[in-house]
Amino acid sequence: MDKYNDVSPFVIIKSDVTRRSFIYTDRALGALDKSKHQYQQRVLIGSNGGENAAVPVSLLLRDGTSIIGTPSKTAKNPYVVDQIDGKLYLTDQGEIVEEVHYWYKPDYYDKFTSSGTPMWQVASARPQRLDIDPNSHCHFWNKGNGCKFCNINANSTQSEKECNMSKQLTAQDVYETVKEALKQPGAFTNLKMSSGSILSGAEIFDDEVDMYIEMLQAAGDNFKDKKFPSTIVASAFSEKQLARLYENTGLMTYTSDIEIPNEALFAWICKGKHNEVGYAEWKRRIIRAVDIFGAGNVSSGIVGGCEMAQPHGFTNEDDALKAVLEEAEDFASQGVSVVHCVWVPMHGSAFHNQQNPSLEYYVRLAKGLSDLRKKYLLNVDMDNYRKCGNHPDTDLDRGNLD
Ligand code: SF4
Repeated sequence: MDKYNDVSPFVIIKSDVTRRSFIYTDRALGALDKSKHQYQQRVLIGSNGGENAAVPVSLLLRDGTSIIGTPSKTAKNPYVVDQIDGKLYLTDQGEIVEEVHYWYKPDYYDKFTSSGTPMWQVASARPQRLDIDPNSHCHFWNKGNGCKFCNINANSTQSEKECNMSKQLTAQDVYETVKEALKQPGAFTNLKMSSGSILSGAEIFDDEVDMYIEMLQAAGDNFKDKKFPSTIVASAFSEKQLARLYENTGLMTYTSDIEIPNEALFAWICKGKHNEVGYAEWKRRIIRAVDIFGAGNVSSGIVGGCEMAQPHGFTNEDDALKAVLEEAEDFASQGVSVVHCVWVPMHGSAFHNQQNPSLEYYVRLAKGLSDLRKKYLLNVDMDNYRKCGNHPDTDLDRGNLD
C-alpha cells in the first residue's frame, strides 16, 4: 500500500483476499443472520460454499466495493474473517486488516415462482444488479475442451445434487422473479445474463442467441420501454447474431470474454474456443460488437494472472503484464474495455493445482487496465463496483470520474 499509494487500499485488499482466499471463524459464521443476509446463490463459475453450508455469499468493504468469493478449504495461506467486539473483520495472521460486512439479501430472495422454484435460484443479487444465468452447462466441456481455469460444469452438477438446482431456467420463472425484484424500490439498476456456451444451431451459437432472446424478452416484459439497463456475458457472436439479439431484445450492453489475451496461451487454455472459433475471430467479433452497442458498451473479461499458468505460460511477471496490457490497449483503442477478475485456481477446474501471481502483479494489472479506460475515454458502467463488483480495475474507475 505504501508503494502504490495512488491505488485505493480497498482494491489492494480485495485483490489479495481473492488471490489468497479466506475462511471464516465459527464466531464470524455465527454472525450470519439468515433472515437478513445472502447465504445461497446461483453462480456459474466458482462455488457456493459446498455441502449446503450456510456461508455469506460475499463481503462488502467500507467503501462500498465487494469481495466476491466463498471460503476455500484448500487455500494454503488464507485470510480469516472473524467477529471481534461485535464487528466483522478480515484478519491476517491474527492482525486486523479491514472491517467487512455481509451482503444483505433482497426482498424477493425467499419467495417462490408459480412453478415452485425458489427465486434465489433464478436471480442472484449483486449489490445493485440482478444476475440471471439461464444455462449452467457449457458445451465446450462435452468434447473435453472446457477452459482450464473454469469449473462451470463441475459446479452446476454439484449445485444440482446439493440444492436440487436446475441447470436451465424457464422464461416464466425469469419473468416472475424480475417482476418481484422490481417491487423493491431502488434495489437494482441493471440486469445481467450469462450462460455456458451453447455451440448448436445452423451457425455455431445460434441456439445460444435464441436462448438469450427468449430470456431477455421474458425479463423485458416487465419494462415499459423496449430497452432496459442490461448486459450479457456470452459467447462471441457473429455480426448477424448480434444484430438479431439487439433488435429483438432490450439488451443495451455486451460482454464476451477473451479470457487470456494472448493467442498462443488462449489456444492452450481455452482450447475449445480456439478450435471452434479461434483467437483472432473471437477478438474480431468482440470489436465488431462496438458497431452495434457503441464504444464503452462492450467489454471483454480476462482471467487476470492465468497467463502465468505453467508449463506454457509466462514465467516472468513483467513480461506477462506487458503482453496483457498491450493486447488490452489494442481492444481499448477500438472501443472495448478489458476488465479482469483475479484468477483463483478453483476446485473442479483443470488448473486447481496452479499458483496465481503476486499481489503486486494484480495491483499493477488493475491500475493498468483502469488507466487504459481513462486514456481512451471508455466508460464501463455495466461492470462497475455496484453492478458487477468482481473487478479490481473497475473499482478503481471511480477515481476516473474526477
Ligand atoms: S466458455 Fe470457457 S469459461 Fe466460459 S463457461 Fe465454457 S469453459 Fe467456462
